[in-house]
Amino acid sequence: MSHDTGLVLVLNAGSSSLKSAGFTATPAGPEPRFSGQMEGIGNAPHMMARNAAGETLADHRWDGGDAPANHAAALGVIVRGLDQALHGEAVLAIGHRVVHGGVDFAVPMRIDEATIAALERLVPLAPLHQPHNLVGIRAAAEHFPGVPQVACFDTAFHRTQGWAAQTFALPPHFYDQGIRRYGFHGLSYEYISRRITEEDPKLGAGRLVVAHLGNGASLCAIEGGRSRASTMGFTALDGIPMGTRSGQIDPGVVLHMIDTLGMTTAEVTRLLYNGSGLKGMSGVSQDVRQIEAAGTEQAERALEHFAFRVRREIAAMAASIGGIDALVFTAGIGENAHRVRARICAGLDFLGITLDPLRNAANALEISAPGAAVRVLVRRTDEEGMIARHTLDALRAG
Ligand code: ADP
Repeated sequence: MSHDTGLVLVLNAGSSSLKSAGFTATPAGPEPRFSGQMEGIGNAPHMMARNAAGETLADHRWDGGDAPANHAAALGVIVRGLDQALHGEAVLAIGHRVVHGGVDFAVPMRIDEATIAALERLVPLAPLHQPHNLVGIRAAAEHFPGVPQVACFDTAFHRTQGWAAQTFALPPHFYDQGIRRYGFHGLSYEYISRRITEEDPKLGAGRLVVAHLGNGASLCAIEGGRSRASTMGFTALDGIPMGTRSGQIDPGVVLHMIDTLGMTTAEVTRLLYNGSGLKGMSGVSQDVRQIEAAGTEQAERALEHFAFRVRREIAAMAASIGGIDALVFTAGIGENAHRVRARICAGLDFLGITLDPLRNAANALEISAPGAAVRVLVRRTDEEGMIARHTLDALRAG
């Protein structure tokens, strides 16, 4: 089959939602055709699908006993739904977002038995995410037998970081056995870096700090298109506060919780992954829209702390690459939450970061004040598009 035309499917199996997308392969690259999302798995699942024009293709809520109860069941529903919707149209390849590529996977990989075994060995490094990715790979292989599958890693983009950025201050044998900073959201950072380079090659060759602020959130320092530092570390728990995750916390607090407060590791895990961050601090929700609407003092303080931590890390990222030419906001909060962006940037004038309040409030593509030394940009991320591109490239490479 020619690798220049046909359909590329993308599966992005996250911890709370499952995203899928279809792209038409063209010689110039993948063109979006449809995208879908299932949320509320295990609770009250809701599935939506839209075509590239934004028209609704499917909108289904389950309220009875036939609701998919877990990720495996939900993936089965999605993969069967895709299969039916394609009316026999051939699928060229399937690309998967895989959270952890460990030390070895620095580029996307064609999936075979050996790759699956290697990904299974990485489960202990990302126990809450990697198993979902593997379930997606197996479901796709079962429903689309013989169709090439490609794994695209969230960690891969960061493998260009130097040793000093990747190591913890531990004896070297820990680094050698893989206990190091990996960094995540790599597909989003790679997309943003490429997009900025396409728009403005000189800026793309410079120093970018990208703030990916969604339910998961992190920052990345990119120099000349290469990741040099990021706020996430060994797991996707490190760095800035997130929707429900704590972000960076003194490891002594974890020891204290276990040794003195008598919490089990399972309880600490639940607290740090699911009960902290914006949700835990605000006592309202993980969603910035609801926290802003609540207007309570506790909600206000959660937003204040979030902005403080992101601001601090923007400066740290800039320091790791010797300066900053542009700050790029992306993902749900970064793209939409203008009050949060204003709060983050207040006090960064010393770095040359000054916002234009009206452009910021309008979610404009460029929100820096005229004449400011650093350009501040807002861009929509496209992890699925990045996966489709990698998948086609891997297919064409053979
Ligand atoms: P995920 O990491 O799950 O892909 P997203 O990147 O979609 O998450 O970000 C989701 C978050 O973005 C929401 O929880 C909410 O906090 C924030 N968000 C989305 N839209 C808006 C908006 N219009 N105003 C403020 N915050 C928003």
